[in-house]
Amino acid sequence: MSTDSFATGYGKSTSSLTKSKRLVAMDHSDKAYSEVEKLFQKGWKHPEKGKPVIRAIFTVLSPQKSLDSYAEYKYFAFNLCSISPINVLVRFQVQVVNQLSNYRRRANEQLLFHGTSQLCPLGKNPSAPPDVCSLRSCSLCSIIKNSFEIRRCGTRHNFRRFGNGIYVTSCSSKADDYFSSPLRSNFRVLLVNRVIVGKPLKRKYNATSLNELPSGYNSVIGVPGGDLNYEETVVYHNDAIRPAYVVVYDISPASNEAAQRSRLGFLKSLFKTPLAS
Ligand SMILES: [Zn+2]
Repeated sequence: MSTDSFATGYGKSTSSLTKSKRLVAMDHSDKAYSEVEKLFQKGWKHPEKGKPVIRAIFTVLSPQKSLDSYAEYKYFAFNLCSISPINVLVRFQVQVVNQLSNYRRRANEQLLFHGTSQLCPLGKNPSAPPDVCSLRSCSLCSIIKNSFEIRRCGTRHNFRRFGNGIYVTSCSSKADDYFSSPLRSNFRVLLVNRVIVGKPLKRKYNATSLNELPSGYNSVIGVPGGDLNYEETVVYHNDAIRPAYVVVYDISPASNEAAQRSRLGFLKSLFKTPLAS
């Protein structure tokens, strides 16, 4: 999916944002809805997981100031201007430069998934308003309201494959591994994020002490084949990423049963012996 379709949404209705009203439900007929859905289904690669069914997709509304600092990072990261105090003129230039397709190609802006912990019932009830909560420890709502912070990333997981950074992936079923909620519900939630990948350093093997990139690189992409089974991308700057959409889904019981049958069939053929059901 091209990121162009949401770039035009910058600034829309963001001047009067309240803390809780940060999500707008997308209609099924919306072009962006089907594009996000396609991206989500294409990225679902774990054969042992059932097929997911999308229940809702929300657009994230961010404050204009937050979108400006993201656009400014994109602008300066590619040496189109030397870093200097930001002024009104530069902000205008940032908006103009964002319209240039060759510049967007260089910024290599992508939509990538992130799974995190959720403590509130956001998205679990389709008829309830999609209000974000005020719980400090609800990572999902904290990211929707304030975007990502490197110092808070990975605090639940001691292992950081490529050092202290913000981890995202094109593989939705991998991001799903990191979703957690104490609530009893089949509904699960993932964030879809705008990410400035720029020029990535590609690695097959772990580098846990990596905290700074070699000159000329903007991110790390972990590619499958060595220590990884599925792709992951890491950025090391808070302004290199913004949450864009929230996907609510469940993994249908029918497809779970099919996956279970497939696993049993595989084991039967492996051991050539009947298995107790
Ligand atoms: Zn919450």
